[in-house]
Amino acid sequence: MALRTTHGKPTAESVTDTVDWLHALTGCPPIAATHVARCSAHETDDAVWFYVEADAARGVARLRCLACGREQHLTDSAERWSYPQAWACTRCAQSIAEVVLGAHTGNDPQVADWVALAVRCVDCGTIAGLTDVVLPPPGLPLDQVLRTD
Ligand SMILES: [Zn+2]
Ligand SMILES: [Zn+2]
Repeated sequence: MALRTTHGKPTAESVTDTVDWLHALTGCPPIAATHVARCSAHETDDAVWFYVEADAARGVARLRCLACGREQHLTDSAERWSYPQAWACTRCAQSIAEVVLGAHTGNDPQVADWVALAVRCVDCGTIAGLTDVVLPPPGLPLDQVLRTD
């Protein structure tokens, strides 16, 4: 794991470090599964770069693909949208991120009942947790947590 701390903030060299960072989170439901956000408009196994808007207090988030502009919402964020500011890296101030979801799962390991959204700055590698949301029963399959309108 290439996680290191620079100026007191965790940084990482690849999207797998964001996955590791999520698994190491404390003070929240244990992360049982992770999902790297991708854009359905591109056939790629690589992580995709996004602009991200998120509101930690409201549990809403929206990702916008840097390449094609397609938007994805965190579950029902579109209906509860609170017009949060766009995320920008607290260390280098640019605003393009890789995005990973971390989920707590219930009896069915494929179904999430709580999801946290983390970003990694594609420039300097700083990782941040932006928001989280409880998914009421029966929960949601992790790959359906991000919705394309
Ligand atoms: Zn795209
Ligand atoms: Zn940065």
